Amino acid sequence: MAYLAPAGTVMSLSEIARGLISGAFSDTPRRLLVEEIRRTSGLQHCWPICSGRAAMTLILRAMRTAAAAPECDEVLIPAYTCYSVAASIARAGLRPRLCDVDPRTLGMDSAALDKCDFSRVLAVVSSNLYGLPNALSSIEDIARRRGVFMLDDAAQALGARLGGRAVGAFGDAGLYSFDKGKIICTIQGGAIVSQHGQLSAILANLMEHIPPTSSAEAFVNSAKLPIYAICLHPTLYGIVKRLPFLGLGRTQYETRYPIADLADVLVGVAAELMKRLNELQEQRRRNAEQLTRVLGEIQGVILPAIQSDAEPAYARFPLLVPDPHLRDRAVGALDRAGIGATGSYPRALADVPEVVQMLRNPEAPMPGARQVAAQIVTLPTHGFCPPELGDRVRDLLVGCLPALAIAQSQ
Ligand SMILES: *Cc1c(COP(=O)(O)O)cnc(C)c1O
Repeated sequence: MAYLAPAGTVMSLSEIARGLISGAFSDTPRRLLVEEIRRTSGLQHCWPICSGRAAMTLILRAMRTAAAAPECDEVLIPAYTCYSVAASIARAGLRPRLCDVDPRTLGMDSAALDKCDFSRVLAVVSSNLYGLPNALSSIEDIARRRGVFMLDDAAQALGARLGGRAVGAFGDAGLYSFDKGKIICTIQGGAIVSQHGQLSAILANLMEHIPPTSSAEAFVNSAKLPIYAICLHPTLYGIVKRLPFLGLGRTQYETRYPIADLADVLVGVAAELMKRLNELQEQRRRNAEQLTRVLGEIQGVILPAIQSDAEPAYARFPLLVPDPHLRDRAVGALDRAGIGATGSYPRALADVPEVVQMLRNPEAPMPGARQVAAQIVTLPTHGFCPPELGDRVRDLLVGCLPALAIAQSQ
C-alpha cells in the first residue's frame, strides 16, 4: 500500500549523482555550499560538518573555551527537544538544565526561561522544532541580559526566518542539520554558522584540526542516498518502513557519534540541494498552509501559534490533540490510512533517564513539555504530499473524536 513518509527531502537520482561526482572531483561545491549557507543565514562564517550533533558539540566546546567563568558548565535547553541536543551537551563535557516549553508555541516559555537559575549557565539553546521559529528575539534578549551565550539550533529550520532574520542566525552561533527528515538531506551532515568574533576564531581553529570523515563512512552514506531518494516515494515507502533494521523513526539517546568533517561527496549533494532550497520551501509551505486551513476548523485540534513576522520552514506539520489516548488513536488511524503521522519525540527530556541523571535540578516539574510529549501529532509536508492530504487527515481525525468522547465518559 502507498504510504506517505513522515518527513523527507524529495530529490532526483540525477541531482544526487551530480552532487556526488562534483563533490568527489572538485573543490567548487564546498565553496558554493559555504557561500549559499552564508547567504541564507546572513552570517559571515560557515563550516560544513558531519552532523548537527557534531556541530553542537563543537559550538559548546568553543563557548566553554571563550567563557570567562570556568564554573559555568550548564546548558539551558527546552525540556522538549531532540534527544541529540542533550547527548551533544554530555559529549561536550557539560550538563543540561531544562526550561519548560509552552505547549501553544512548542518553544521555550519566555517567562519560565527568565525565572531559571542562570548561576552556572554557559549557554541557552533554542529548538525551532518542525521549522517553526521560537521567540528568538526574546531568548536573545534574556541571554544578553544574563551574560550567557545563545546557540540557535536550526537543525530543522534551514531557510526559516523571523522578522526577516534567518533562524540559526540569532544569538552567537547556530547550526543546521542535513540528516534524514530535516530540510535538506545528505543522510548525515550539517553546518555551523557564526559571526561572533572570538567564537568564530575558536571554531575556525577547531575545524582546522577536525579529522576527515572515513572513506568507509562516506561510501556508505553515498550509497544510502539514492536508496533513500527512491524509497521516499509513497509506493516503496510502504514496504521499506516495515524493515526493522532501518530503524526508521526511532528516537535514541546516543553520545558515541563521529565528530568529523563533512565528506566531499556529501558536500556536493548538499550544494546541489541548496540550489533548490526555495523550491523545497515553497512545497512545504504550501502543504502546511493547506493543512492549517483545513485542520484549524476541527474542534479539539490545537495548531501551534506562529508569530506574525515568522516564515516557518515546516520540516513537519505539528498539532496537539486533547489527550494521549486520542493521540495514539489518531496516529494509528492515520498510519492505517497510509499517512506517516508520528508522536514525535516520545518523552520530555525530564523523563529520559540518561538526561535526568545529568540534571542538577531533576525534580523541577516540566508540565508543558510533558503535555507536548503526550499530545503532539506530526504530519508530513514534503513534496509527495497530495493536494487532498488536508481533507483526508480531517476526515480521519474527526473519525477519532467520537471515540475520545466515549473513552472519557467511561
Ligand atoms: C536533528 C536535530 C539535531 C541533531 O542533528 P543531527 O544532524 O541529527 O545530528 C539537533 N537539534 C534538533 C532540534 C534536531 O532536530
